[in-house]
Amino acid sequence: MSELSVPTGAAPPDVPAGCEVARVARVDRGLLTVLTATGEHRVRLGGALHDESAPAVGDWVAVRGELAVRLLPRRTAFVRTAAGRGSAPQVVAANVDLVLVVDSLVGDARLRRVERYLAVAWASGATPVVVLTKADVCPDVPAAVARVAEDAVGVEVLAVSAVSGAGLGALQSLLTPGSTAAMVGPSGVGKSSLANALAGRPVAATAEIREDGRGRHTTTARELHLLPGGGLLIDTPGMRELALPGGEGLDTTYADVAGLAADCRFRDCAHRTEPGCAVAAAIDRGELDPARFTAWRKLQAEAHRQELRADARARALEHQRVRALHREMRARPARPHR
Ligand code: GDP
Ligand code: ZN
Repeated sequence: MSELSVPTGAAPPDVPAGCEVARVARVDRGLLTVLTATGEHRVRLGGALHDESAPAVGDWVAVRGELAVRLLPRRTAFVRTAAGRGSAPQVVAANVDLVLVVDSLVGDARLRRVERYLAVAWASGATPVVVLTKADVCPDVPAAVARVAEDAVGVEVLAVSAVSGAGLGALQSLLTPGSTAAMVGPSGVGKSSLANALAGRPVAATAEIREDGRGRHTTTARELHLLPGGGLLIDTPGMRELALPGGEGLDTTYADVAGLAADCRFRDCAHRTEPGCAVAAAIDRGELDPARFTAWRKLQAEAHRQELRADARARALEHQRVRALHREMRARPARPHR
């Protein structure tokens, strides 16, 4: 009950008269678990809140009585494009300020995976922080952190341990009162353990408990947790399963490669054997890690495929574009080789 007086983050101002603002802590078809100044409530979705206006965890809604009547403006959003079907993108978490890109210090180098999640984070509008877990079992933490920091340009990289508590203070100081953090990262890296360590109480079932067969209390557990320091932490299955969105975040994570590509002589340079390719030149000069370039190109291709999948209209346009390209190529005389 002591939680109930803790602010649930900074609400946007646009609230209809006679309504209370509430923060969405869980969504079950047609039913929302919300947090307000007076505590946790269950409210129904009003008629205006279906389809595109359907609230996600982290959203602010205006509540009148037992009904959520309006979705308030979002600052940031994590969007998932439903696989296949070409259906509308789905918001999996909203109003996230800080994205904890969680990965483990145990095992092989995770650079490419971290980069991939950083792209996801930037695309949402939130600020990413890399959190490397299991510092207690890593023989050389500073070296491992330095390796990741070198690639995650402009992003803070922290090493933590849910077991020893190392680094948790530094992370907690980023989770300022009223700010909202969310975790992304593959399974097994220690997200549940981290959530529990930050909350100071069990809010997420760790691998051990999941294997017990007892599982999570999926019918009641909220997915937005109030932390002792006044910050909030979002941990939803949707965030855990996030796939790569469109290319916008990629260009931020790979600003160096994207910048080089913009300097290529040909605007449609494939960065293979084209003359005047700035990317190839940088690799030749030893200024760009070829692995980084390969990862960028793979992610770009994947982002492009996802966009196409998500949007039937884009698919039709792409079809037109390719046909036009073929027509143009047939009409154009062959360029002499240099
Ligand atoms: P999740 O799938 O990302 O939620 O990961 P879990 O929190 O369930 O953790 C996966 C495994 O890593 C479990 O066996 C945890 O006990 C272990 N683990 C998590 N955090 C730490 C840590 O800081 N140090 C060590 N040594 N093990 C950890
Ligand atoms: Zn090029």
